Amino acid sequence: MKPLHKPLVTLVGAGPGDPDLLTLKAVKALQAASVVLVDDLVHPDVLAHAPASARIVHVGKRGGCQSTPQAFIEKLMVQEALAGENVVRLKGGDPLVFGRGGEEQAHLQAHGIEVRVVNGITAGLAAAHDVGVSLTHREHAHGVVMVTGHASGAGPLPPVDWPQLAQTARDCHLTLVIYMGVQSAAQVSLGLLQGLPGETPVAVVENASQARQRQAQGRLDQLQALLVQEQLGSPAIIIVGDVLKGLLALTSAQPNPNAKTA
Ligand code: SAH
Repeated sequence: MKPLHKPLVTLVGAGPGDPDLLTLKAVKALQAASVVLVDDLVHPDVLAHAPASARIVHVGKRGGCQSTPQAFIEKLMVQEALAGENVVRLKGGDPLVFGRGGEEQAHLQAHGIEVRVVNGITAGLAAAHDVGVSLTHREHAHGVVMVTGHASGAGPLPPVDWPQLAQTARDCHLTLVIYMGVQSAAQVSLGLLQGLPGETPVAVVENASQARQRQAQGRLDQLQALLVQEQLGSPAIIIVGDVLKGLLALTSAQPNPNAKTA
């Protein structure tokens, strides 16, 4: 049957985990969905906003876990949209911050499918909130860099130049917010130490915004030891910069003071 409307996919940001951080636009998009393709960092309660009749397809792809190949996800979205379904692609955080949202958008558009995007709260901002710090506090920072710790050179770009980034962060007073950096933390910190002092404060936040959130703070030259000692793992955000000064009294893993206990 031919669809009545131009085929449409809505890329919806599910936020960092706490279902209360969903936007009203995200809720409305979910309420209108007939098919929802869900990443595995999305909190299950978010799906309660979709109609009971909606088809929910889990296509999560956590690093190291078995995953649905990206090409399959993209093909499925095209297929469902062309069949007239109201497709919502639910992605953790903001749909266009890492997580290949930009590639999905381009693929859909190349197939003549209209793409709408609903912002979500990205994990880096949720992590800063949980630490209780302003990433742009004007006493310490002119701005923020969101950077992946995962870029190994396998993608279209050369790997992240950590020494250069550290130098720039130091010269320009920028806070670094590192996504996907837990596995490569040893290498990342070694690179950053070529441009930033060892005592530069770092914070790691695992499962930001969620009841099971844990965090630790320390120094850049002890980042790897901190991760091992506190057994912090993915998904986590690493924040690096002087905006964390003053928080260093807290050096062990902390539960989230704002989390709901339910
Ligand atoms: N689009 C997402 C990011 C996807 S990349 C966003 O805007 O947040 C996946 C990475 O995001 C993870 O490896 C981790 O570094 C980070 N991440 C996602 N959810 C997180 C959470 N609740 N707490 C800490 N880090 C998280």
